[in-house]
Amino acid sequence: MPVINEFFLDLPENYLFSDIAKRVKKYKEENPEADIIRLGIGDVTLPLPKVAIDAMHKAVDEMANADTFRGYGPEQGYEFLRQAIAEDYKRRGVNLDIDEIFISDGSKSDLGNFTDLLDRDNRIAIIDPVYPVYIDSNVMFGRCGKFGEDGRWSNLIYIPCTADNDFIPDFPSEVPDVVYLCYPNNPTGTVLTKEQLSKWVDYALEHNIIILFDSAYEAFISEDNIPHSIYEIEGADKVAVEFRSFSKTAGFTGVRCGYTVVPKKLNFKGKNGVEGNLNRMWCRRQTTKFNGTAYIVQRAAEATLTDEGRRETKELVNYYMNNVSLLRKSLQGIGLEVYGGCNAPYIWIRVPKGETSWSFFERMLKEKHIVSTPGVGFGPSGEGYLRITGFGKYEDTLRVIDRLKNWKL
Ligand SMILES: *Cc1c(COP(=O)(O)O)cnc(C)c1O
Repeated sequence: MPVINEFFLDLPENYLFSDIAKRVKKYKEENPEADIIRLGIGDVTLPLPKVAIDAMHKAVDEMANADTFRGYGPEQGYEFLRQAIAEDYKRRGVNLDIDEIFISDGSKSDLGNFTDLLDRDNRIAIIDPVYPVYIDSNVMFGRCGKFGEDGRWSNLIYIPCTADNDFIPDFPSEVPDVVYLCYPNNPTGTVLTKEQLSKWVDYALEHNIIILFDSAYEAFISEDNIPHSIYEIEGADKVAVEFRSFSKTAGFTGVRCGYTVVPKKLNFKGKNGVEGNLNRMWCRRQTTKFNGTAYIVQRAAEATLTDEGRRETKELVNYYMNNVSLLRKSLQGIGLEVYGGCNAPYIWIRVPKGETSWSFFERMLKEKHIVSTPGVGFGPSGEGYLRITGFGKYEDTLRVIDRLKNWKL
C-alpha cells in the first residue's frame, strides 16, 4: 500500500492572492463603474529587452539547422552562460569558479529544491515577513511542525523584521542550523548594509550554520554600501548559498532562468558524521532530477549580461524604480509611514493607527480604487503593513498618485 508524504497535508491553502482577487471582484460587481488600478502585483509588466529577443531568434534558427541544433544540454547550464555570470560577479570583486554556478529555470525551483540536501531535523530560521516558498518547501519535509492559530509554525524560528527594529534581523534566541535571508527584501523592500550582513556571516561562521541568501532583487540596489552579493563579505563562501534570477532583473518571469551559487568550500556533516560537500551534492541532485533550462533561454540570459544587455536591463529597472520613487514620495506626502522603495521595487506601508493590514487594504480599494497586498499575507510580522509595487505602468502610477492627493487618512 502506498504511503503519501503526509507533510504536504500540513500546508494550509495559501489564500492571499485568491482572497485579494475575491474582494476586488466583489467590489467591482457592486461598483461596476469603479476604475481599479492594481499595485499589488509582484510580476514585471514591460516586454523583454531587445538583446534577449534577438538572442532568442538567433538561437531558434540554430535549432532549425542540423549543424547547430542542440539536444540535451549540461544540467548545470551551458558554459557560455556560467562564464558570463562569473564575469558579472568579478565586477563586484567576487571570484567564482564556473563549477560553483548552477543555471536553472528560476530561483523559486532552486530555493524549494535545495532543502533536498538537508536532513529533516535541521532547525530552520526565516526572517518574517517573507517570501512563502522558504517555509512551504521545508514544511513538505516535515521540518516546521504544525501550523497554529496564531499563524506560526510550531517548529520554525521566526526573526521579526519590522519598523520596531528598523527591519534589521536580530540573532534569534535559539541558534538555528539554516537561515534564509532575502535582500533586497520582498515584501518590505528593505536592505542590509555591508556591516549588517557581515554580522550574519560572522554569526554563521561562529555557529557553523548555513545561510541561504536570496538576492533576486540585486539589480534594484541604488545606494552604496549595500552588498549585491553575500560573497562580497569575507568568509561567506564557507557558509552561504546564493540564489539569483533573471526574472525581475531582465523581465524573465515568463521565460524562466535563474542560477544558484554553491561554493566548493561548503562542507557539512551528516547524522552519521560523514562529511559532504554541498557543491558536489547539489551537482548530483541537479544532474539526477533536473534537465537544465532551454538553450534558447540561456542564450537570452547571456545576452542580458553583455554591455548592451546591461544598458537595456538597467532601463527596465529604472522604469520600475522611477514608479516606486514617485509612489514613495506621494505616500509620504499624505502622512503615511513608508519603508523600502529605494533599493527594491517594493514599498512597505505602515497602516494608520487602529487599522489592520486587511482593513486598510479594503479602505484603499473602496476609497481610492487601488489594489495593494496586505502585509499579514507574508507572515505574522507583516500585520499592520501593506505592500505596493512599482511593477505597474508609469501612467497608472501617475493616476494612483493623483488619487492619493488629499486622501484623508
Ligand atoms: C521573484 C522572486 C524570486 C525569483 O523567482 P523566479 O523563480 O526566479 O522567477 C525569488 N525570490 C523572491 C523573494 C522573489 O520575489
